[in-house]
Amino acid sequence: MSQPLNLIAEFVPLDKRAARRITYEHRTIDTLFTDLEAVGICGGLLNGQARQVWKRSQLKKSLPADTFAGHVYAMKTIEETDLNTVSFLLTLPPLPIGVKTTHKAFQLFDNLKSQQQRPSLRLIDKSGIKYSINFYYEEVTEFKETTKTKGDEKFSVTTTDRIRFIKRVYDYDTLVIETDEVKLARIYKNGKICPINDATTNRSVFELLLRFVNDPQKELVYYGSVTGNCSNCGLPISDKRSISAAVGPTCAQHLGFKWG
Ligand SMILES: [Zn+2]
Repeated sequence: MSQPLNLIAEFVPLDKRAARRITYEHRTIDTLFTDLEAVGICGGLLNGQARQVWKRSQLKKSLPADTFAGHVYAMKTIEETDLNTVSFLLTLPPLPIGVKTTHKAFQLFDNLKSQQQRPSLRLIDKSGIKYSINFYYEEVTEFKETTKTKGDEKFSVTTTDRIRFIKRVYDYDTLVIETDEVKLARIYKNGKICPINDATTNRSVFELLLRFVNDPQKELVYYGSVTGNCSNCGLPISDKRSISAAVGPTCAQHLGFKWG
């Protein structure tokens, strides 16, 4: 997990792997994971004991039973979610995901900020679910592992990704991807993407966000082509030039896109 790029290059999806049997004392389990992956997954689980397994490995203080326990927890995540989701999560770098290109997305919102008080862009994922990405100043945040103290913390989120947010810095810029009902993940200017809830339930959101920060305009064009509406203002786009730019002339200007 410490060398995600190498892992991605050599990564074999879980459904292409043969299970191997490992034993510890009198117990056995058939596992699809490497030891490193199994323990790494523990760091992303809500289960406190699983997280301890991961934490001890980070501190190089693993107990003899930890590797086996790691495989037990990791295999359980497959039962609780599904093989493809867990497989996909393994291809991601450790959470929060570091992405070098988040500045492109922020550039768009910086452009919009001069025109709109609360800039918002609409996105759609491959299964047709619509999301909006909204720009916030949030009173957050420093990535720090901590236990939640009751009462005085204005901003605290339960995540499965071993990160708790604590209030540290004022006026911190974030982009939040959300549906009408729920906030799903945050994009930070420092190049981090972090799920707000269980990462395993948000696979399509991750995929969408990774595409978006890599090439924001492409995702806006995709939204426009699928829905026939401007990703920024929501109005119908019919003009050929608007369709190819994904947005109408006014929004194109606001976003800093070429139009016509
Ligand atoms: Zn528009």
